[in-house]
Amino acid sequence: MRMVDLIEKKKQGDVHDDAEIRHIVEGYMAEKIPDYQMSAWLMAVWFRGLSKAETVELTLAMAQSGKILDLSMIEGVKVDKHSTGGVADTTTLIVAPLAASLGIKVAKMSGRGLGFTGGTIDKLESIPGFRTALGTEEFIDQVRRIGLAIVGQTSDLAPADGKIYALRDVSATVDSLPLIAASVMSKKIAAGADKILLDVKFGSGAFMKDIDSAKELARLMVEIGNSAGRQTAALVTGMAEPLGTAIGNSLEVREAVEVLSGAGNMRLRDFCLFMAARLLMLAKPEWNSAKAAAAVRKALDSGAALAKFQEFVVAQGGDGRITTEPDRLGVAECSQEIRVDREGFILGMDSARLGNAAILLGAGRAKKNDGIDLTAGIRLHRRCGDFVQTGELLATLYFKGGVDPTPARRHIEEAIAMGTTAKKENRLVIGIMDETGWNSLE
Ligand code: URA
Ligand code: CA
Repeated sequence: MRMVDLIEKKKQGDVHDDAEIRHIVEGYMAEKIPDYQMSAWLMAVWFRGLSKAETVELTLAMAQSGKILDLSMIEGVKVDKHSTGGVADTTTLIVAPLAASLGIKVAKMSGRGLGFTGGTIDKLESIPGFRTALGTEEFIDQVRRIGLAIVGQTSDLAPADGKIYALRDVSATVDSLPLIAASVMSKKIAAGADKILLDVKFGSGAFMKDIDSAKELARLMVEIGNSAGRQTAALVTGMAEPLGTAIGNSLEVREAVEVLSGAGNMRLRDFCLFMAARLLMLAKPEWNSAKAAAAVRKALDSGAALAKFQEFVVAQGGDGRITTEPDRLGVAECSQEIRVDREGFILGMDSARLGNAAILLGAGRAKKNDGIDLTAGIRLHRRCGDFVQTGELLATLYFKGGVDPTPARRHIEEAIAMGTTAKKENRLVIGIMDETGWNSLE
């Protein structure tokens, strides 16, 4: 098989068989296929797309390019959840202990922040002592013992995705639905969970800008997961405004602790309860949504989820006292307030701009290996739809001495749109894609 013929084939819009897809992935990993041919093929895929069968085969070939975690030593159903990335999205830190406190086994691999979106691993590292690099045995042992472990993605899982993603990043081929779906699902399949709940976000603060492409990506990923024998469902959720009120690593851990303590922002809280109930329904197919919703509600209200979070933090070496003494997460050196300059309704909060403002304050990376300030970021005190009076506190900025907050401040002021008439609330959960198809939640 010559790679030039395979590029020609895809360029003409023909469909590869399984052996051809394998040849491409394996040849690229073995360095028999050079970057320039691989990028030509990726660009042909960008224009021509991939069939469902091609996408599934590409996913499996990438998953099998490295180790596939065997979680069979852990009794019971193992679930994983994955978000395509958002702003102020601290869901994992709430949903994972909620589900684990109900006896579900949560074995989760997470990533670092990407672009203006945050990453769970960075957030967890703001907890003093917390270790995100556990060996496979330690990881499995912890899930068996307490039902929950969250670790950083290791480079031996789906290495073909890592190599191909780096090439896509510099060849303008990231934004292809089958390539994104194969990339995400290859890592999920390699991470070993039996059941996977995805959260596909759309809107200004997300990878997918519109609802139709988010639904299409959700459909593709659900098909891939189910074809690979991993029952998969995907929520499609709006990211026009930030999910929670904290943007930045230790600030988001604080917000997670607030929600787990029964307080916190209602939009984030309701979303986490909904998501945890869906995880429960995946793990316990005999449960209906009312039963699952009641169980997660009880786990939150009784303090069981917070206790599980603390147990998880301590198990991974972190300071469990953060649940009652959040200042142990560290406090930024400097802060600055933004107040309302004219009364009215808050009509919009542009997530992407707010995410970028948090990066300017030091909360994220401009380049892959940049360091970050784990205490930097933004706390929003008001939400979309609120009526605010002149002089009211809108947001607090947190940063290190030596950082000039002016550019971030400008972004935040421009990100928040005000007006004199109230607007309909931005919808959060639009629907769920599962093996039965699309279920709208309108
Ligand atoms: N996230 C991934 O893991 N892969 C993609 O291709 C895009 C987003
Ligand atoms: Ca259905």
